[in-house]
Amino acid sequence: MKLKGVLLYSGGLDSTLAGLICEKLGIEIYPYHLKTPFCKCPKTSGNKITFLKNIKLEVAGIDYIKEVVFSPKYGYGRGMNPCIDCRIYLFKKAKKYLAEIKGDLLITGEVLSQRPKSQHFHQLMIIEKEAEVKGIVLRPLSAKLLPPTIFEEKGLIDREKLYAIKGRERKEQIRLLQEFGIFEIPPTSCGCLLVDENFSKRLKDFKDNLKGDFDLIDIEILKIGRHFRVDGKKYVIGRNKEENERLIKLGEIKNYLLIIPQNFNAPVLLSPDKEIEEKMFNLLSAYSKDKKKNFLVIIKKGKEIIKEENIIIASTPQKEDFQVYKI
Ligand code: SF4
Repeated sequence: MKLKGVLLYSGGLDSTLAGLICEKLGIEIYPYHLKTPFCKCPKTSGNKITFLKNIKLEVAGIDYIKEVVFSPKYGYGRGMNPCIDCRIYLFKKAKKYLAEIKGDLLITGEVLSQRPKSQHFHQLMIIEKEAEVKGIVLRPLSAKLLPPTIFEEKGLIDREKLYAIKGRERKEQIRLLQEFGIFEIPPTSCGCLLVDENFSKRLKDFKDNLKGDFDLIDIEILKIGRHFRVDGKKYVIGRNKEENERLIKLGEIKNYLLIIPQNFNAPVLLSPDKEIEEKMFNLLSAYSKDKKKNFLVIIKKGKEIIKEENIIIASTPQKEDFQVYKI
């Protein structure tokens, strides 16, 4: 009997290796890649890896943010990373795919004690229990240190051909990958923005100041430019031409306030709060290259131009004046 396994594939070193090991054991591999709005995921293809030809890609949407990132049952790591809840969500999704393909087991590249927030023994067990996948998750890299799956118990998978890797070192995984003839080493982390300290600060501020509903465009805006919260109001300014253009595009879609400098070299400003405040112009002046006290801007709400205004400011504000408002 050939077992069919859904591989939770991140594009990284461990999940790639887990797939190769299981393929060698004769398991038919169905890679499954879930991209979250916070993923800076590595490329999910590789010429030498045949099982990636039938990869299933899915995107986690707004429900992931509302239910997992903003209300985690098991709390956060050092940033806004709800790793245990995130893994439970991922396992549940993969389990659905497993049912679709009428498969037998889930395979992951998890390594015991590699990640502090989700890969200690008790955390792995919580994830299995909550996702209702107990006994069907094979972690080939650490399997010998974990309870056997039902497939090992039945003798359908030879436990002796699995590994007992533990901890953060990657030397053994790299050595094994090279045994499979792969010398281009995939990245070792999934590149999740939720573990980034600065991004987490922004996301927390966004969550704490939510007044109504939000969508994925609001999350995209969090990834762009410099962010400030001034007297409760949120201002975003671009750091370069590309970001300025992107802010205009997203602000137009969301019907947010946009201030677009005309005759001076300054960033575009976006504000979801929609009220025009003097501090906005001071901020633009502080971050402008030519430090004008008198300048022209177009003020838009979404696509609609509200007015074109000549702004006169009393002093020349400095970037440092806004340091305390930065998020
Ligand atoms: S690092 Fe990010 S993607 Fe990975 S488990 Fe944690 S929250 Fe999920």
